[in-house]
Amino acid sequence: MKLSGWGRYPVLDCRMERLRDHNLHGMLDRRHTLIARGNGRSYGDAALNPDLTLSMLAMDRMQAFDAETGRLTCEAGVLLADVLDTFVPRGWFPPVVPGTKFVTVGGMIAADVHGKNHHRDGSFGAHVESLTLVTADGKVRECSRSEHVDLFRATIGGMGLTGVILSANFRLKPIETAFVMAETVPTRDLDETMALFEASRDWPYSVAWIDCLARGARLGRSLVSRGTFMACGSLPSRLVREPLCPAPVGRLMVPFDAPSVLLNRASIGLYNALYYRRGQVRGGARPIHFNPFFFPLDRIEAWNRLYGRRGFVQYQCVLPRAKSPAGIAALLERVAATGQGSFLAVLKLLGPAGEGMMSFPMEGYTLALDFPMRNGTLALLDALDEITHRHGGRVYLAKDACCTPERMREGYPRLGAFEAVRAEAAGAPPMFASELSRRLTL
Ligand SMILES: Cc1cc2nc3c(=O)[nH]c(=O)nc-3n(C[C@H](O)[C@H](O)[C@H](O)COP(=O)(O)OP(=O)(O)OC[C@H]3O[C@@H](n4cnc5c(N)ncnc54)[C@H](O)[C@@H]3O)c2cc1C
Repeated sequence: MKLSGWGRYPVLDCRMERLRDHNLHGMLDRRHTLIARGNGRSYGDAALNPDLTLSMLAMDRMQAFDAETGRLTCEAGVLLADVLDTFVPRGWFPPVVPGTKFVTVGGMIAADVHGKNHHRDGSFGAHVESLTLVTADGKVRECSRSEHVDLFRATIGGMGLTGVILSANFRLKPIETAFVMAETVPTRDLDETMALFEASRDWPYSVAWIDCLARGARLGRSLVSRGTFMACGSLPSRLVREPLCPAPVGRLMVPFDAPSVLLNRASIGLYNALYYRRGQVRGGARPIHFNPFFFPLDRIEAWNRLYGRRGFVQYQCVLPRAKSPAGIAALLERVAATGQGSFLAVLKLLGPAGEGMMSFPMEGYTLALDFPMRNGTLALLDALDEITHRHGGRVYLAKDACCTPERMREGYPRLGAFEAVRAEAAGAPPMFASELSRRLTL
């Protein structure tokens, strides 16, 4: 079948099968390679393999929960949305969530996802206590910080290239309410945006939306949003009756591929200007349900169709903290100069790198931008890659569709250690491979 990531670029013809139990033997055949696939929310080619793409979505059982410690054991195909629906009403929340809840636990581990709290709590992998992994020899290994330690560290952030994660356990954290006290603060330029991030370190969650078409003195002007879960006692009376409501919200649907002509400099410029103005007006702290706070895009089903048939790419990089002011400014200038603005331009402050050998986060700032795929997009991405590379940064493999092997290698200094562990787990040539690993000669 034709398969793609969330960006719908590239689209490949893949043989797809569903894993239905823990027995992979029939599929570990030396005559072909395979890659595990969660819910396909990585943007590029990480979860694609024409030989065999193995859907994990049927592996969706929650196996055990310890209500004393919050430890959840579940299969890798369990959706974050199901974890939320099940545990928020009981007063528990995942330690780290990405910007969509339609991801699987396996996908969160394999990409070692980060959330708005990375500066305080690290990435998802930091909260995984153990995982079970099937390697190329068909053995099921329990990996943790005390058993198969290197394999554990290579699998967290390893993009499915060390094997198939069958299940995992991690700790949820207690919450008193499902509401976040959130405030949005407009800033005038990049210096002010970064200063506000530094001053907001005590806020558990922070993120900025950047007006990526602003130039000159207004370069980097943003709406910085920060939040913290509310205690029962601080809820306004209208919310007290059901403090832990999971609040399923109605979803809007994009019914067809939008004509790409809708996405032009004028429409993106207008959207950015209006969005910024709205944030300026609405400012101030207010209670907001966790769904719109953490997953604003999930309200629009299939929003990826807005970018038209050719799809889009998301460019996400991280730069070391010291080089971030100059590097992020250079990236924004480059984008603004082309006029190829992005509806979505998000800046986050990340904390120190975790233990995953191929994990994306490093201490510094990460910028994420969406671009519709059209003539000139690849050249723009190449220019952005060059700036990232020059400032000692790296791109996020869960979003990538275009990086070159050379640039990727320089961005990931622990790649050598990863390759050694992968050679043992995946064999030679590696059984676990994706279009991403082929493109990046991994
Ligand atoms: C709207 C949106 C917002 C996002 N926001 C963020 C964010 O804030 N932070 C962030 O870090 N990411 C973010 N992402 C990216 C997303 O969280 C990751 O790409 C995640 O890996 C997707 O999970 P998935 O289950 O869809 O995995 P897939 O996309 O299907 O696969 C992703 C990778 O995981 C591997 N994999 C999946 N399941 C298994 C398994 N069982 N065993 C071994 N390997 C496996 C695949 O091989 C592939 O390499 C966002 C994505 C979207 C669409």
